Amino acid sequence: MERQIHILAADALAEEGLEFIREQPDTVLAHKPGLSAAELSAIIGDYDGLIVRSGVQITSEVLASSGKLRAIVRAGVGVDNIDVDAATAKGIVVMNSAEASTTSTAEHAFALMLALTRHIGHAYVNFRGGGWDRSQFSGNQLSGKTLGVIGFGRIGQAVAARAIAFEMNVLAYDPFINAPTMLDGRVKMCKGFTALLPHADILTFHVPLNDQTRNMLSAETLEHCRQGVMVVNASRGGVVNESDLLAALDSGVCGGLAIDVFETEPPPADHPMRDHPRVLVTPHLGASTREAQEAVSVAAAKSLLAFLRDEGLSGAVNIAGFRVDLDPIQCGFVDLARRMAQLIGPMITAGIGEITIELQGDDLTAAATTIERHTLVALLSGHIEADINVINVRQAAERRGIGLRTMTLDDEKNDWRQLSITVQSCGTERERRIVGRIYDDNRPRIVEINGYHMDMIPSGAMVMIQNDDRPGMIGLVGTTFGAANVNIADMAISRRGDTALMVLKIDDEPDDATLQLLRDQCGILKVAKIVLAPLLEPSSG
Ligand code: NAD
Repeated sequence: MERQIHILAADALAEEGLEFIREQPDTVLAHKPGLSAAELSAIIGDYDGLIVRSGVQITSEVLASSGKLRAIVRAGVGVDNIDVDAATAKGIVVMNSAEASTTSTAEHAFALMLALTRHIGHAYVNFRGGGWDRSQFSGNQLSGKTLGVIGFGRIGQAVAARAIAFEMNVLAYDPFINAPTMLDGRVKMCKGFTALLPHADILTFHVPLNDQTRNMLSAETLEHCRQGVMVVNASRGGVVNESDLLAALDSGVCGGLAIDVFETEPPPADHPMRDHPRVLVTPHLGASTREAQEAVSVAAAKSLLAFLRDEGLSGAVNIAGFRVDLDPIQCGFVDLARRMAQLIGPMITAGIGEITIELQGDDLTAAATTIERHTLVALLSGHIEADINVINVRQAAERRGIGLRTMTLDDEKNDWRQLSITVQSCGTERERRIVGRIYDDNRPRIVEINGYHMDMIPSGAMVMIQNDDRPGMIGLVGTTFGAANVNIADMAISRRGDTALMVLKIDDEPDDATLQLLRDQCGILKVAKIVLAPLLEPSSG
């Protein structure tokens, strides 16, 4: 019977996503919202995949017994409730389903902006208290005002598009966008955050919370703003400094603040923003629409199952750039990379200082991260005790001080695709290097090992022998293997200086005693046996 995928949904989720999982013939769903950390920790290892919203905390303690868990998906955007580093260390992919809530959050930010500039919240509270105070709530129109959008990703762009429809001038700041304008020239991109501030009547924040964005709007940066600037934050609490903004509201530097997110959620009952006359608050409602909840729950379920079925990877936050949807050429290079790493691995006897991976071939660029990760797993498996996989291998290498460099080369002189792996030993100049290519026949080839040039298809049981380059050495090897009844199927020989490298393909694996016998022969410098997977028939394309 086909293997069943076991999914745990550990938060309340929109029924559409749960139903989608239940309909899958290869999937078993357990929906258990509200578990304690101890209860979750006790069962988490029984599941292949976990779906959460923001209600449950996935801490390193919960992940300590992660068992067969391969993936965690957050139905929504922020993964603040997941210890991503701990998951990465365990080799677990963490994904979000950000796109599904873009429209709802953008509409909410826009609603906050309208409500703020027209005092809708406070006017309504006044009315509910029996009032009809019109003069106190006179506002400003949006048309003709300048909006500064900070963070020009999915939500920032959706807000900007709506602002343009409201006849606003839109400026934006996003350090990861180089274009001078966006949205068909209707949004001017500013080079710096503080360069934008003096021009904006209203600021709206749509950035992730990280070390660069924490306290972006603070007493210091508020000094660059127009007197009476209005501020909207529907991104993450902590992006704007709450106490500095309260002071700016009281001094008039800030004319009004609308926020959906707080540094601590929920904020304490006596938080000064709760009854501030120029503050409008919603309790983190950005993605709280029926449409967004349905969409994120289905999107989370789909991306989790796609990953667990090895069909795709989307929204991963701890393995950026990694792909599973490779074309046949890229797949061929992943396979070649693994074979090359297995060949060079036994030659590395000292600690690894640095690994350099060079890829040549336009169509390999998009798969560079994927090839890099598979190479590292195959290379480091014999050298690192911990369980490593493509998710945690970079972190595992970095934690051990191993330097990593991956380069894609564009050498127009050569029309072949090539991969080279160079491993430098710790604290020495000593290098091990292997180079592989795949030509039009789609078969992997090793063309160089440590400066010895050759043309060899890496497959099956192999023995590499380094020896003095002098007469009789081939005969010596043939006689030793013949006596042990080991048939040599193929042989590549390469010479460099006064030594040579023989790479033999053999029908039967020689035992350790035969290899030792060979090592003991005069003129034999090194002997290593490597068993690679037999080569499958090449794919076309
Ligand atoms: P996104 O990744 O598409 O966009 C974020 C943008 O911020 C990116 O373009 C990035 O380049 C930019 N950025 C990163 N660092 C920056 C910096 N220092 N200065 C300026 N820009 C910077 O994300 P998104 O889907 O648009 O979400 C944006 C924010 O909205 C996130 O923080 C997310 O958690 C939040 N969000 C909140 C709610 C809610 O309920 N209020 C719902 C969904 C998303």
